[in-house]
Amino acid sequence: MRYSGFSLIAQSLKGHAGWGPAWRDASPKSTYDVVIIGGGGHGLATAYYLASRYGVSNVAVIEKGYIGSGNAGRNTTIIRSNYLLSENIPFFESSMKLWEGLEQELNYNAMVSQRGALLLCHSDAQRDAFARRGNAMRLAGVDAEIMEVEQIRAMLPFLDYENARFPIRGGLMQWRAGTARHDAVVWGYARAADARGVDIVQNCEVTGISVENGRVVGVDTTRGQIKAKKVALAVAGNSSRVAAMAGLRLPIESHVLQAFVSEGLKPLLNCVLTFGAGHLYISQSDKGGLVFGGGIDGYNSYAQRGNLPTIEDVMEAAMGLWPALGRVRVLRHWGGIMDMSMDGSPIIDHTSVQGLYINAGWCYGGFKATPASGMCLAHLVAKDEPHPVAAAYRLDRFATGRLIDERGMGAQPNLH
Ligand SMILES: Cc1cc2nc3c(=O)[nH]c(=O)nc-3n(C[C@H](O)[C@H](O)[C@H](O)COP(=O)(O)OP(=O)(O)OC[C@H]3O[C@@H](n4cnc5c(N)ncnc54)[C@H](O)[C@@H]3O)c2cc1C
Repeated sequence: MRYSGFSLIAQSLKGHAGWGPAWRDASPKSTYDVVIIGGGGHGLATAYYLASRYGVSNVAVIEKGYIGSGNAGRNTTIIRSNYLLSENIPFFESSMKLWEGLEQELNYNAMVSQRGALLLCHSDAQRDAFARRGNAMRLAGVDAEIMEVEQIRAMLPFLDYENARFPIRGGLMQWRAGTARHDAVVWGYARAADARGVDIVQNCEVTGISVENGRVVGVDTTRGQIKAKKVALAVAGNSSRVAAMAGLRLPIESHVLQAFVSEGLKPLLNCVLTFGAGHLYISQSDKGGLVFGGGIDGYNSYAQRGNLPTIEDVMEAAMGLWPALGRVRVLRHWGGIMDMSMDGSPIIDHTSVQGLYINAGWCYGGFKATPASGMCLAHLVAKDEPHPVAAAYRLDRFATGRLIDERGMGAQPNLH
């Protein structure tokens, strides 16, 4: 069923009894051309683009829980393409362009809101670094604007501009950046992929990857064995564990990242805001809650839950930037498992096992990448060659030393 104003009116006249399920709850078949492991945003987007752009629809997305139960449904929903390095800008900008047409393409309201993302700077050196980044973006055709303190003060009068340690010195604004509704992105891709014949198999955990003579031949799951000509991994925080099933050791560490939502407030924050002197990013949801997060936990973990030291750390940063937040109550708080690569940039590549592809290393930033990641992985799987905007995201760069060190922090995931 196509969603439209007319279908809404027609359904309302029938008491909304006629809406069908948005996608089928498929049972796994014994054989597929492509099996995608992971029903997060990236896995579902890959399935959608395989079917819609490359004509490959004998595809299953295998998800151990329910779709969107991983990071796709746990993130702080920020989308942007304000990167510095020439390997990253084209990829994230292609994602931004896909976001801009996504709702029309999927016929689904993903609540894409281009409200702007402002990175605050707190020293002259940081301002210079942001000017450099803004120039790199503009040279690559991406919008960027340096904002003066007085412009920011007029827009966001409640921030602490004279903070003794971290005075606000200006900011880098990308007006086309913003937020999107994370669950709706998952559901929109699922519905559109299902409509093109993709099987979305939930509550089905992959427990093994079968390899014969160096080539992948299928997967073992809790719902039986599935044969496949090609298998693609899109399991984010579980990448190392699932890749190990095929005998691969990845340059990925898993760490928890936590998110917070406050009680609903009247509209006061009209953009996404990032504190440049610590780790804090904050936006206001359409329901009024402030949605915010900070840095990853410093140790490796597969637990999808938060802890008190990080709460204290994030709240300190929030109070340093916006003191009145001390009066606001936090309502909810959770964690997701981040697939931290060693240079902070992602991997979309072949592996040493023929027919087995990997999409991982998304660190904090994989939600904004969802459309381009799906498109590039679909291209790689369908054509066996990298998509031009993701050609640098090679797995062997960690062996050859060609790191894409966007933040200049070296091979230390807790610093990215
Ligand atoms: C708190 C938090 C805040 C974030 N904020 C942002 C943000 O503001 N902007 C941004 O761009 N990014 C953000 N991110 C990162 C972003 O959410 C992720 O990088 C991105 O969602 C990862 O891709 P995915 O959606 O496919 O992952 P996931 O949704 O995690 O999908 C992977 C799926 O694989 C499944 N799976 C794992 N193992 C198996 C198995 N053996 N068999 C079958 N299925 C399996 C999991 O259940 C899961 O559903 C944030 C993440 C967190 C946790």
